[in-house]
Amino acid sequence: MIVLHYTDMTSAEAAILRLCDPEAKVSAHYLIAADGTATQMVEEDRRAWHAGVSAWFGATDLNSRSIGIELDSPGHRPDAPIFPDRQIAVLLALLTAVRGRWRVPLRNVVAHSDIAPHRKIDPGEAFPWQRLAAAGHAIYVPAPDAPGAASPVDPAVLIPPLTRCGYTFAAGADPALVVDAFHRRHVPSLTGAPPTEASLQVARALAAAIDAEMKTKAVAAP
Ligand SMILES: [Zn+2]
Repeated sequence: MIVLHYTDMTSAEAAILRLCDPEAKVSAHYLIAADGTATQMVEEDRRAWHAGVSAWFGATDLNSRSIGIELDSPGHRPDAPIFPDRQIAVLLALLTAVRGRWRVPLRNVVAHSDIAPHRKIDPGEAFPWQRLAAAGHAIYVPAPDAPGAASPVDPAVLIPPLTRCGYTFAAGADPALVVDAFHRRHVPSLTGAPPTEASLQVARALAAAIDAEMKTKAVAAP
């Protein structure tokens, strides 16, 4: 797996110091600064502490099975710049290299918020997932614009397709937070809003695309 994060800090230098501080108990394999400078902090075959309590397709202890990439960003502040082009260009090259070495399927290139929806919102709804999809590193399903797309749906109808996409609905946990993690990544215009018919259609189409990927044995990295 590859887990994408933002640092939620004001500078890449400060983030690297924190990620290398044993007291902080957080680490990641890579950090990409806003100017595109990539820094490796942990070997890819070593475990870094970036995922925390998390789950994907029923698997837990994701630190033991994932490579963590931090993107230098001040987070969700209103004045936060959008991820600069040069930062995303370096990320795309890194994804090509890492996915080539480890054969990571598209369904396992995830946001921190995907695997820890009750705790995390990074890398946020402004992250350019469509650019990753265009470069062959993510599955993108456009939201329908048909009549009725804005009709509300019961959040419970999203549980089966989102489970097929990898999302984990833990017993006793609020399913609305999982739906919001899905919105944040796949239907960003509905982040923080209740699900609609458009949410359901995107979830079903995404589940079908992931089912199709699972049926193909060989995972071809671009
Ligand atoms: Zn994170």
